Amino acid sequence: MRIAVFAGDGIGPEVTAEAVRVLEALQIDGLELVEGDVGGAAYRKHGHPLPAATLEIARSSDAILFGAVGDFSLDHLERALRPEQAVLGLRKELGLFANLRPATVFKGLEDLSTLRPEVAGKIDLLIVRELNGDVYFGEKGTRTLEDGRRQGWDMMSYAEDEVRRIAHAGFKAAQGRSKKLCSVDKANVLETSQLWRDVVIEVSAEYPDVELTHMYVDNAAMQLVKNPGAFDVIVTGNLFGDILSDQASMCVGSIGLLASASLAEGSFGLYEPIHGSAPDIAGKGLANPMATILSAAMLLRHSFGLEAEAARIEAAVAAALADGIKGGDLGGSAGTKEIGDAVLARL
Ligand code: NAD
Repeated sequence: MRIAVFAGDGIGPEVTAEAVRVLEALQIDGLELVEGDVGGAAYRKHGHPLPAATLEIARSSDAILFGAVGDFSLDHLERALRPEQAVLGLRKELGLFANLRPATVFKGLEDLSTLRPEVAGKIDLLIVRELNGDVYFGEKGTRTLEDGRRQGWDMMSYAEDEVRRIAHAGFKAAQGRSKKLCSVDKANVLETSQLWRDVVIEVSAEYPDVELTHMYVDNAAMQLVKNPGAFDVIVTGNLFGDILSDQASMCVGSIGLLASASLAEGSFGLYEPIHGSAPDIAGKGLANPMATILSAAMLLRHSFGLEAEAARIEAAVAAALADGIKGGDLGGSAGTKEIGDAVLARL
């Protein structure tokens, strides 16, 4: 069980250090951590945001714990050398096709949500988003029509094998939770979505224990703010998932609590908080490391099948929050290390 630890830029190293302390405290037999450079930090040392040596560490590992990348002082570089290219490069090189984003409102934090507390308190869902296909990766361009008007166009498509593998990821995630899967599409208008729906139904035959429902994306957007507690696992395409996962995240109320996973076929995955490098608070010991700690829990669950250890970490975070240990992002005053200590104490 080799974990590549890529801390990156800004608050990345600060929050990753706390997650590493938590992983080490569990004393899991056979767990090995290997560090590598990514992002602006890697560019400064090696001239590239994703050096070959880092990619090699990634390829020889079973999972990646990722901090954050981004350094405004390098924004003048050509696109291929910018820190953010490290994430895109890893996604592409490692075939990461399924993005998992949990959104959970912890007890006592209902007031942080912009939704009413009695609605927000019921949020405990997971969005499984396809990452490598859809309209973002289709042919695209701009052209001038015969009558002289300019037109932009983007091709939306999904091949059945692309839908099948993300559907499997959705059903497996549902099996690990309350066995309810909602597939979100726009099958009333889009042919791409009709095929999506047909294939998801085909795959459902292999998961008789999971209850499958379908919802149009416009309705899903409404239900996510009206009755988010009704969702458990949502599976959807790249475009719809991009929007719905950000919407669900904001229903939770703080960026410092939101973890994510990007999975490849098999058990390999990259785990990271959804926040960036937060240059405004970097180096001050103010960042909330909970999103990264919760990402480490996802890593143990999804890449190593260590459900009990993952649940232990999540319970420790929930207990720290319930005891009032809150970072500045949650309206509290606890610093990065203090939050790490509090989680460790409750582990
Ligand atoms: P950001 O997520 O870094 O910060 C947004 C706001 O949230 C800031 O005010 C920040 O202080 C706060 N914040 C973020 N994480 C926090 C935490 N753990 N605890 C407390 N407060 C926290 O987004 P941004 O400012 O738009 O981007 C900064 C840099 O990060 C940019 O270079 C951007 O490209 C990069 N970025 C990287 C990733 C990634 O590595 N996957 C994701 C998003 C943005």
